[in-house]
Amino acid sequence: MGSSGASVEAVFFGTTTVYLSDGASGILIDGFLSRPSLLRVAPDLGRITRALSRAGVTLLDALFVSHSHYDHAMDAPEVVKHLGGRLFGSASTLNMGRGAGLAEESMTCIADGDEHRIGAFTVRVLAGVHSPDNRFPGTIEEPLVPPVRASSYRDGGCLSFLITHPGGSLLIHPSANFVPGKFDGLDVDVLYLAIGALGVQPQRFQSDYWRHVVEATRPDLIVPIHWDNFFVSLDRRLRPLPAIFDRFAVTKAFLDRKSEETRIPVRFPEPFEVIRPFAR
Ligand SMILES: [Zn+2]
Repeated sequence: MGSSGASVEAVFFGTTTVYLSDGASGILIDGFLSRPSLLRVAPDLGRITRALSRAGVTLLDALFVSHSHYDHAMDAPEVVKHLGGRLFGSASTLNMGRGAGLAEESMTCIADGDEHRIGAFTVRVLAGVHSPDNRFPGTIEEPLVPPVRASSYRDGGCLSFLITHPGGSLLIHPSANFVPGKFDGLDVDVLYLAIGALGVQPQRFQSDYWRHVVEATRPDLIVPIHWDNFFVSLDRRLRPLPAIFDRFAVTKAFLDRKSEETRIPVRFPEPFEVIRPFAR
């Protein structure tokens, strides 16, 4: 891999919010930095700007939202208002943008198969399905103005993102479910793999998930995402989701065993840690 690969940096912000930059262009996948309690679900501008400045993120060209549940999308419009750039998402996500006052010309509706060039990056949109037991299915039909209940953030359809750069490729897969065959032959360098609620699924589901997502994409590195307790502020250490939502130890044991069998390393990211995904 050439020097252009080494220039790509990735920063993890908890849940599925991941920032990518090569110094010339910046992309954010999902936008959830406030991490509020369920008592008041609304963007917290102080927490949003603190998190971005702690990570040194000042450059944003595009923000791609994977689905419009609040733990993926709630802060996305505010981040775009703060840093600039364009909001890409489903029709439901665009209704969140409208509710926050974003102009139509700074938003793009995306669907399966679309490809967007962002500087030297190409982002391909791959439609998928939400993890089992989707609490808030459906679509957001009107501009959404927070604060609203968590249940108002309906998923609006689930997307994954294949991001390619001259330096390498990565798949960000933000919900722990799969469409058989969808990722066959992708062959990525790095897989950002959602594992939320995987620990409470049957073993059969876990091994099918591995087969259709990990085996299909043949990554050299797995970075687990959506494993942390998102009711805890980013000012504090990340910890796994509580047992009422997930059985993290089961997932961890599963990943350890699969990693050992397949020799694919699994690296849990720390928030704000800078990873150079293509510089290995
Ligand atoms: Zn969701």
